[in-house]
Amino acid sequence: MNAKFLITSDNSSRSELLKKKIIHYYIANGDATIADIGNELNLSIPTVTKLVTELQEDGYILEFGKQDTNGGRKPSIYGLNPTSGYFIGVDMLKDKLSICSIDFKGEKVHLEENIPYQTVNTPAALDELCIIINNFINALPIEREKVLAVQVNISGRVNPISGYSYSLFYFEEKPLTQIIEDKLHIKTFIENDTRAMAYGEYMQGVIKGEKDVLFVNMGWGLGIGIIIDGNPYYGKSGFSGEFGHFRFFDNEVLCHCGKKGCLETGASGSALHRILLDRHKEGSNTILAGKIDKNDPITMDDIMEAIQKEDTLCIDILEEMATNLGKGIAGLINVFNPELVVLGGILSLTGEYISLPVKSAIRKYSLNLVNQDTEIKISRLGERAGVLGACLLSRSKLLGMIHY
Ligand SMILES: [Zn+2]
Repeated sequence: MNAKFLITSDNSSRSELLKKKIIHYYIANGDATIADIGNELNLSIPTVTKLVTELQEDGYILEFGKQDTNGGRKPSIYGLNPTSGYFIGVDMLKDKLSICSIDFKGEKVHLEENIPYQTVNTPAALDELCIIINNFINALPIEREKVLAVQVNISGRVNPISGYSYSLFYFEEKPLTQIIEDKLHIKTFIENDTRAMAYGEYMQGVIKGEKDVLFVNMGWGLGIGIIIDGNPYYGKSGFSGEFGHFRFFDNEVLCHCGKKGCLETGASGSALHRILLDRHKEGSNTILAGKIDKNDPITMDDIMEAIQKEDTLCIDILEEMATNLGKGIAGLINVFNPELVVLGGILSLTGEYISLPVKSAIRKYSLNLVNQDTEIKISRLGERAGVLGACLLSRSKLLGMIHY
């Protein structure tokens, strides 16, 4: 099999470029006839037939037989061959990671979640990450050569174009992608975690045909993934989407970025954690009081469980935060005029506790005519958005579908 032409290069021949466009078409639209492709790409039937035949010979496309129509000639349907290549995605959270593989068609092959992993900024943690990825690939029931690309999601400042990560694993002169590639011997990409989640929702989640979308990641931190005309928006160096560090409060709370007054300090999982401990110290009660008093660490999962059990202190804080978040999103809606805003990340799993105050603040604080255009939805993929997005982005990047 010839996988080389799939990798973007400027000196590809015209027929190689067209073959890639045909694969892009199948990824975006699913199975289709020769005529469908001819119409979409503005190519003649003999040209498409020749290219599709070559793609079939290369193993990327399969013929699925005749289409059912009401009388007349029945054209053959073609689609991507799921077994022609595989992609791996890795999503790192604070104290665990998820890793997943998808086939060439984008279907999930194998997913492992909640693998214990401490995301700390040390060379040993990077080595361990590579070992986890390697073991995962070795355990897959597929040949290693068929794994065409890997993507690792990282929170913080990541430049997916140069392959450098600045907030995590910035130890050497070499780009992080190169360091990982040297260990795996597989093409590697890195991406900001929130942007990957947004792409997961775009390809396989709650986003159904909308092209201008803002995805809000309410996790331990706060960030947004911006999708413009169906493509992730990167900005000059890949740093777009740092919504959490928007100056919002006039107070003395220090953000981990080193500045004061960031929205994240009053609207994120870490903010909820901090405010919960403060309020408890001031005398408010919570079902987590026992743990807090024993000085046990309080995790995001503990807080989520407390909210599920209707802990009023946690819910009160969550609602206050959601109102602040809604004010911030109202500003984004005024600026971007998106079709859809997706509320994602672990805090979105609290459902209406977060979405109602967010929606109410958006109605109150954004321009009427502008917010009428915008739908607000909760993420469908939930905690899997990142790892699925990582898999799907590695495929789209390898195939040259992403414009930086
Ligand atoms: Zn900040």
